[in-house]
Amino acid sequence: MTARPFPHMLKPLDLGFTTLKNRIVMGSMHTGLEDRFFHYGKLAEYFAERARGGTGLIITGGISPNRQGWLLPFGGTMNTWGDVVNHRRVTSAVHKADGKILMQILHAGRYGYHPFVVSASAWKSPISLFKPRAMKESEILSTIKDYGRCAKLSKMAGYDGVEIMGSEGYLLNQFICSRTNHRQDKWGGPVENRMRLPVEIVKEVRRQVGEKYIIAYRLSLIDLVEGGNTWDEIVLIAKALEKAGITLLNTGIGWHEARVPTIVTSVPRAAFREVTRRMKKELSIPVMASNRINTPEDADDIVASGDADLISMARPLLADPHFVNKAAAGKPDAINTCIACNQGCLDHTFAYKRATCLVNPQAGYETELVYIKTARPKKIAVVGAGMAGLACATIAAERGHNVTLFEAADDIGGQFTMAMNVPGKEEFRETVRYFRHQVSATGVTLKLGQQVQAAELEKAGFDEVVIATGVQPRTPKIPGIGHPKVLSYPDVLRHGRKVGHKVAVIGAGGIGVDVSEFLLQEHSPQPLADWLEEWGVDLSVSEGGGLRARRQDAPLRHIWLLQRKAAKKMGQGPGKTTGWVHRLALQHHQVKMLGDVEYVKVDDLGLHIRVDGEDQILDVDNVILCAGQESVRDLLPVDAEGKIRDKRFHVIGGARFAGEVDAKRAIREGAELAAKL
Ligand code: NAP
Ligand code: SF4
Repeated sequence: MTARPFPHMLKPLDLGFTTLKNRIVMGSMHTGLEDRFFHYGKLAEYFAERARGGTGLIITGGISPNRQGWLLPFGGTMNTWGDVVNHRRVTSAVHKADGKILMQILHAGRYGYHPFVVSASAWKSPISLFKPRAMKESEILSTIKDYGRCAKLSKMAGYDGVEIMGSEGYLLNQFICSRTNHRQDKWGGPVENRMRLPVEIVKEVRRQVGEKYIIAYRLSLIDLVEGGNTWDEIVLIAKALEKAGITLLNTGIGWHEARVPTIVTSVPRAAFREVTRRMKKELSIPVMASNRINTPEDADDIVASGDADLISMARPLLADPHFVNKAAAGKPDAINTCIACNQGCLDHTFAYKRATCLVNPQAGYETELVYIKTARPKKIAVVGAGMAGLACATIAAERGHNVTLFEAADDIGGQFTMAMNVPGKEEFRETVRYFRHQVSATGVTLKLGQQVQAAELEKAGFDEVVIATGVQPRTPKIPGIGHPKVLSYPDVLRHGRKVGHKVAVIGAGGIGVDVSEFLLQEHSPQPLADWLEEWGVDLSVSEGGGLRARRQDAPLRHIWLLQRKAAKKMGQGPGKTTGWVHRLALQHHQVKMLGDVEYVKVDDLGLHIRVDGEDQILDVDNVILCAGQESVRDLLPVDAEGKIRDKRFHVIGGARFAGEVDAKRAIREGAELAAKL
């Protein structure tokens, strides 16, 4: 008999009055669906799918206890009978799927995007539009009541409990840290006063919901901002919360305004398990680990080693709602792993768009993007095994079509095979691994190393032909562009061409940033100790916030990152939640970023440029071209006006439009076409 896979992660957890069927908790994540009552049907299906996939416990996105606590204007609330009716759709769908669900109560405090914001003190956050008003004592008391009422209504709505959001810099975190709490009354000053609000809220919630109801509290175990709490203070608060009646303690890492990355791809996996391990020793209630845990191997190991009782993962369950069932079936290779890119989820949330997932476009669209088995299987050719082609081929095959996937290169993955070589982007390998599994599991016929010809496609008699041939790097028209110093980004990232010590990178888009980071990091993946030193993180939290002086090394190379546009926001990368990390990382390595650049020529002296009318020569060993891409669509039969002549042909991804193509658009286009074929 073979051993049960991931036995620790899959072991039930008895909470006394209820049992969780395993240790995987879907952590709270705002999708945007919570904010409008007419989206609750979609929200119900979104969570039910995760429950069907085996998730032990689900936590909703943040629901505000009152209007001041809104994250966004008219955000999700639980204040009225109407709210109870809406939320019942969610709880009954999850229970029908044999799941359990908590409602997160989140008061945004000064992080709210609306003019009614309140906080412990009147001090605006660097990432907010509105300055908060300091709460009067009467408002503090009524807010405690609001939490209690909200929790009571959540019970009437059928939830299995609540999670009180007390981390990431939201209201309760604003009260417990001297960074934002400058009060002189009994709600401010020493930690015993600063923690009064969360403790009173927990007591009130417990009073309202009774004993047999889960109360989880998400406590910031390392604030990563100046003026954050010390470890001794955090332990004191955790113990007081335990005494006040919480059932579980969840781990929060870093405030939203922290300038240390906590969840992006470059953060080493399970980087913060250490703080959860230390907290677990202090408490007798179960403790949950969170942040950058995205594989069943890590989840199982954390529980097995006693570092935590539960594992919170939000994005990995967006990426694959069946994460737990696949792990339980001993098929971790079948998991569509979250690559921590934030492009489909958090970047959408911050742009007020519905959250989805780059690697799983069905996330948040469970009722709209549906893959139905076909009644009339077709013979389909997909040309190009990059992200668009892989998504299209595997989903079409899963639906029952007979799919042949042609790829000119020796392996699948397209542009991802370059991205995954960039230090800090190692996770991208997981998507290639997932698609490799899917190609085989869905029965796609894969033809690698085949530069397929139009005549061949014609002769084979395909019912549908999908052109997903992607892009090729653009070669800008600069005098001397053929000089031996000049390399393309595939030369560097794919073919491993040698690069000198002084480098000019032409183009400061996502790939220019990737290439710069590739040339600056010695190790891939970066060891945790090295990452902690680079970002100045002290996991012992001996000083408030867990910050220490950053290590400053001489850079591995001297890099000039250039663009023709103005210098503002250079090297931003594709998303709001990741761009700042890239920019800071480049600054750490002393990359010189220049905008408003005119490229004059390349010669033996280096790259000649003109900035503000002034000529300069960058004395570099190499010039690396990262100047965007052009579509490859030779196989597409088009008429003189560029319209497709043959209606069997379709074009997706970079081959359709090269500008701003990214994997999110490519995978979504592949999936949407495959759902229709
Ligand atoms: P990009 O973001 O469009 O950037 C191209 C860069 O080349 C720009 O800086 C542009 O700036 C410059 N450029 C364009 N035409 C030029 C010309 N003729 N001569 C000189 N410079 C020129 O494209 P990319 O960096 O190749 O990235 C491609 C796609 O992949 C993007 O959508 C990107 O978001 C995505 N991507 C995503 C990630 C990620 O981390 N998720 C990483 C890499 C790439 P100027 O015109 O101002 O000079
Ligand atoms: Fe993970 Fe990226 Fe999907 Fe977000 S969009 S869930 S970070 S893979």
